[in-house]
Amino acid sequence: MAEDPFEPSAGSDIDAQRLRVEAVGQPGQRRFRLLALVDGNTHIVWMEKQQLQALGLALEQMLDQLPDRGPELDGPQLPLEFDLQTRRQFRVGRMELGYDESRNRLVIVAHDIAEDDDDGEPSFNCRMTRSQARELSSDAAVVVAAGRPRCTMCGSPMGPGPHVCPQQNGHLPLSLAETDTEVDEG
Ligand SMILES: [Zn+2]
Repeated sequence: MAEDPFEPSAGSDIDAQRLRVEAVGQPGQRRFRLLALVDGNTHIVWMEKQQLQALGLALEQMLDQLPDRGPELDGPQLPLEFDLQTRRQFRVGRMELGYDESRNRLVIVAHDIAEDDDDGEPSFNCRMTRSQARELSSDAAVVVAAGRPRCTMCGSPMGPGPHVCPQQNGHLPLSLAETDTEVDEG
């Protein structure tokens, strides 16, 4: 067990073989995580919903700003399974995104929230292709929104406050307005 998952990654293969974001638990108490398979090892990065949302948006922004490099040749997706019992998991504090121009890969760097070292080794980092990043970004948006009930009129997620529905010209959904009919038992 001399293997150190946090050893400097220079020169080693840190291409993500598989990536996934997901929510765990019941609505209202959901926890969020990034699963990454790198060099045959599963890493689990736990995060807050806001962090996942921010990560998804940051990926999208970065993808929009990258210079076009033509069509991307992705290898076939291997049917690799995540090891959900992995010891390589932690709660993330700081995250960074970068771009490895020579490899045309996006890079994600995550620091353990419990390790208060600003210039220490990242707890996790990996490279991903643009299409992996694109998929991760759209998956993050879906996962973040999935916990909330959707409006039957317009399909958008409903927040805790009253929903102003564009399908109803800004009025509340009809089903709410219809409940005040008087029942007269005469
Ligand atoms: Zn609506």
